[in-house]
Amino acid sequence: MSLYLIPGGAGFIGSNIAEALLKEGHRVRILDNFSTGKRSNVPADAELFELDFTDLASIRPAFEGVDGVFLTGALPRIPYSIDHPVESAQANVFGTLNVLVAARDAKVKRVVYSASSSAYGGQETLPLHPDMPANPLNPYALHKYIGEKNAEHFAKFYGLETVSLRYFNVYGPRMADEGAYVTVISHFVRQKKAGASLTVHGDGEQTRDFTHVADVVRANMLAMASPRVGKGEVVNVGAGQNFSINHIAAIVGGPVEYHPGRVGEARHTRADITRTKELLEWEPTVEFEEGLREYLRSQGIEPGG
Ligand code: UDP
Repeated sequence: MSLYLIPGGAGFIGSNIAEALLKEGHRVRILDNFSTGKRSNVPADAELFELDFTDLASIRPAFEGVDGVFLTGALPRIPYSIDHPVESAQANVFGTLNVLVAARDAKVKRVVYSASSSAYGGQETLPLHPDMPANPLNPYALHKYIGEKNAEHFAKFYGLETVSLRYFNVYGPRMADEGAYVTVISHFVRQKKAGASLTVHGDGEQTRDFTHVADVVRANMLAMASPRVGKGEVVNVGAGQNFSINHIAAIVGGPVEYHPGRVGEARHTRADITRTKELLEWEPTVEFEEGLREYLRSQGIEPGG
């Protein structure tokens, strides 16, 4: 049995990791300020530290006796970061840095960092491989990429084991469904439930590699345990297949309304998961269209398409 700390454990991905760890018999601490996380996501058996990771001194006690950290906490979403670049940097750059410092000083063995595939930004070719030079196109992508480089530096300079998982668009149970900055599937679900048209940005032919949260949780577990990582390696966590936004709209079903395209976003994403297979022995298990249909049914929507 080990003790794990999850900064951001009240959020979508963090709470799914917490649940999986508890099921395996581990102890779990959650550090969250509920800026985007929900109290209802905190499992009853987890210990809660209600703190903001932008304040280094206050978070140090949460790291005492911790074996490993799953750093899922972030201020998410690209449009938010364009509207609020300072807040994004405070959380995603300095919050991340504070977690690395506190983990190092508490002699935590390993930090698994939730990185973002947005670091790839505009690339000439697909699939996206971690050896491609990063090309962050917006503040969120840049700030998450800085977190990755900091994680690598902490392995190099201080011997803190780190590994960065570049998530491609994650969906599934407990996905954020409130506020202005939700992801496309949540947005469509909300619009469908309200009987409104689905808002597609641009021509809808842009594509994303959608990854089920259950696969993301498994990648985290393997990243914490694998003897082949710990030196700041960067690996993709994606399904390796991409689907257009129009295709998703068709599966959700109903009228579509086209809006101007968003600035500062990639046209296509698709993960090359060769390195992830090699280093973590991880492969995705949930096929997207099946996963999406199941999610829609859980939301009371009968999928079309
Ligand atoms: N998108 C859309 N309609 C929406 C929300 C998003 O067409 O209501 C598009 C968005 O422009 C992007 C894709 O869906 O091309 C995925 O956006 P999301 O915000 O889910 O994730 P991102 O890829 O930006 O991290």
